[in-house]
Amino acid sequence: MEQSYKDKIIKYSLSIGFDKIGFANTEPFNEEKEVFMKWISEGRHGTLKYLERNVDERFEPNLILDGCKTAIVTVINYYNPVKEQYSDSNKGKISRYAWGKDYHKLIKLKLVQLADKIKELFPESTNMTFVDSGTLPEKLLAQRAGVGWQGKNSLILTREFGSWIFLGIILTTVDFEKDEPHRDLCGDCTKCLEGCPTSAIIKPGLVDATRCISYWTIETKSYVEIPLDIVSNSQSRIYGCDICQEVCPWNRFAKQTSESGFRVNNNATELSKDFIENLTNAEFKSIFNDRPLKRIKLKGLKRNVCMIRE
Ligand code: SF4
Ligand code: SF4
Repeated sequence: MEQSYKDKIIKYSLSIGFDKIGFANTEPFNEEKEVFMKWISEGRHGTLKYLERNVDERFEPNLILDGCKTAIVTVINYYNPVKEQYSDSNKGKISRYAWGKDYHKLIKLKLVQLADKIKELFPESTNMTFVDSGTLPEKLLAQRAGVGWQGKNSLILTREFGSWIFLGIILTTVDFEKDEPHRDLCGDCTKCLEGCPTSAIIKPGLVDATRCISYWTIETKSYVEIPLDIVSNSQSRIYGCDICQEVCPWNRFAKQTSESGFRVNNNATELSKDFIENLTNAEFKSIFNDRPLKRIKLKGLKRNVCMIRE
């Protein structure tokens, strides 16, 4: 295929707000599947039972889209250079990814625009878009597409934006020229393993969900009690946890997002115990309707108050 088609797609992706894009082949990830199966068999996924289903698809994109030739991986930087304020011990900290609007819809719209562009150039093509869908090996594809590497904290890191990024994927039947996989740039660093307050990173690149603050504060149902050893090491994280990113040297290069939807909102970086305890359902809906916190509902947020350490 002519390089000019790929160039057109890259140029268009940047024009609609993506910060980076890469092209990967869709061959199966056999070794990674084995590691994942062991992780599941050890119960490291906790209550995330959906991860036990469709495992073959999860590691072989061709099973999702018949005739798939390329996985296009997109990156958007969501970082806001707001200094950690967290001085008030009566407040709980919210993960940076949740300071702006919910990313699912916003990224989906851009991916659909990009998929439409591919369709315009290749009318015979079939294209599918994914944002954090859980059915694709997004991080593995990102490394293979050369947009970044999977760090020891298990997240994708980029040279330009560190790990404060959202990924999006388009599977397409168009056979674009592929990029070189990104090499690992963690080197000898082990800051994330040492920094994790609950020892959730069991080995480089592998997180035990059942020890991770993000899992407990976002993924578990509101009626589930958070274990005491997680609570006592929570460092007041009430929605997600960024510690293994905050300590990462590559995040020194983080820069302000250019996406207005991801700019920091009011009441976004931290919430006080009193505020949460007095919040009504109607208020919760009006404040968090278009933000990631909506996911855990008011009940989940009230349960997470236990994480605020005074
Ligand atoms: S998100 Fe927090 S708890 Fe989870 S691995 Fe990173 S530092 Fe540890
Ligand atoms: S803290 Fe160090 S080891 Fe961990 S992801 Fe960042 S560079 Fe890699």
